[in-house]
Amino acid sequence: MDAIVKNFPQPNRDSDRPSQQEAEEAVRVLLRWAGDDPTREGLIETPARVAKAYRELFAGYDMAAEDVLGRTFEEVAGYDDMVLVKDIPFYSHCEHHMVPIIGKAHVAYMPDGRVLGLSKIARVVEIYGRRLQTQETMTAQIARAIDDTLQPRGVAVMIEAEHMCMAMRGVQKQGSTTLTTTFTGTFKTEPADQARFMSMVRSR
Ligand SMILES: [Zn+2]
Repeated sequence: MDAIVKNFPQPNRDSDRPSQQEAEEAVRVLLRWAGDDPTREGLIETPARVAKAYRELFAGYDMAAEDVLGRTFEEVAGYDDMVLVKDIPFYSHCEHHMVPIIGKAHVAYMPDGRVLGLSKIARVVEIYGRRLQTQETMTAQIARAIDDTLQPRGVAVMIEAEHMCMAMRGVQKQGSTTLTTTFTGTFKTEPADQARFMSMVRSR
């Protein structure tokens, strides 16, 4: 897990970014590469729209999970059992083909005296989702971010997702789902905690 996370680039700085004009020109090149004519009426505005959409779809490069999670947490007296947020929807893009990955994340942790605001977990999923990803890296990154900042007794992350690059091209395996998990702390060392996480995720 460490190796995967450490190899991941830090969020971009604005100074590294090409201009809007350069981005639009790149889209025009890809339109021609696809076989279309970027000067035809229906495509005139497309490069500008794509450039704008990319800023939104990849907004995760401008955000750090640590900023969302913060350094102050709610203290809880008496609650020390699992906190699970499940079925967090996300849309990401695979780093191999830049094609969508559509899925759900289930994130749990065992508090050690303090808890996170529940919406923050969904925000962390969004930050890592809005980058070019592999599902394995994204799973590890979410676990790592919560582990590092909250320092709970354990973190469990499961992601189930469909990869459009598999559904739409190449082997064309529609409807197949990829499952990935990362466990830390008590979820890693205690099979009973891991089993309870799995059954809580599975219960409808
Ligand atoms: Zn792919």
